[in-house]
Amino acid sequence: MKKINKTDEEWAKELSSEQFSVLRKKGTEAPFTGKYCHNENTGKYLCAACGNELFSSDSKFDSGSGWPSFWKSVLNESVEEKEDRGLLMRRTEVTCSRCGGHLGHVFKDGPKPTGLRYCINSAALKFVEEKDVSE
Ligand code: FE
Repeated sequence: MKKINKTDEEWAKELSSEQFSVLRKKGTEAPFTGKYCHNENTGKYLCAACGNELFSSDSKFDSGSGWPSFWKSVLNESVEEKEDRGLLMRRTEVTCSRCGGHLGHVFKDGPKPTGLRYCINSAALKFVEEKDVSE
């Protein structure tokens, strides 16, 4: 996959302040505030920064966490995962493999078949409804 490299200055011009704080500064939106938390429509979730296809409604589930949750990414190579050592928690960060944007974290308490829970900020995503995709 061809990588996209832009400076913070360039991203700041293209993204809303909320998108910028999540995608470029690893921020986390408050739970239950994101626009896709309760979105049950059929479609694809793209990276809000670069349009990379990340997740599908097929693997979205209600985790009760307050953030959109998925049990897998569209392709293994859609996202990159790396250990994030915070002060008290060891978590696995999930980033967009094309632009490096921070998406959220992945946990090992998800449903079958993967047992994974990708906990993703709505602000990092752009939802495209299925009927729009096929047009
Ligand atoms: Fe991206």
